Amino acid sequence: MVDTLFLSARAAVLADLQARHRASAQAVSALEDALEQRRWWAEQWPEGTTYVAGLVAQDVQDALFETVGRWPLCVSCDDAPEHPLYIHPDLGGPDPVWVCEESGTEVAGLGGLSSPGPAGPRA
Ligand SMILES: [Zn+2]
Repeated sequence: MVDTLFLSARAAVLADLQARHRASAQAVSALEDALEQRRWWAEQWPEGTTYVAGLVAQDVQDALFETVGRWPLCVSCDDAPEHPLYIHPDLGGPDPVWVCEESGTEVAGLGGLSSPGPAGPRA
């Protein structure tokens, strides 16, 4: 069960990295680190598995912020200065979604971000 959960968390975060062209070797290695740490954490606290996917996304977000910059950026607000999306609920789950805190709108579910650009579909 836990393996399936971690595979789907990995797939979801990787999809969102790829959607924003941030799936560098560095980002993937941050993702692997986050998965490893959360796996240990989930083994200590099995009820926490609900939160794993969202927490892994937050871990990767933090790791990227320290190195390459903000991910994922909001592409929905035209006039606002550059700002990132955040995982809601803040605890990481259940059912984590990316939210723009500037406009208060839910942009996409975790793993469902679209690529930016007028030709791409809005998630
Ligand atoms: Zn926004």
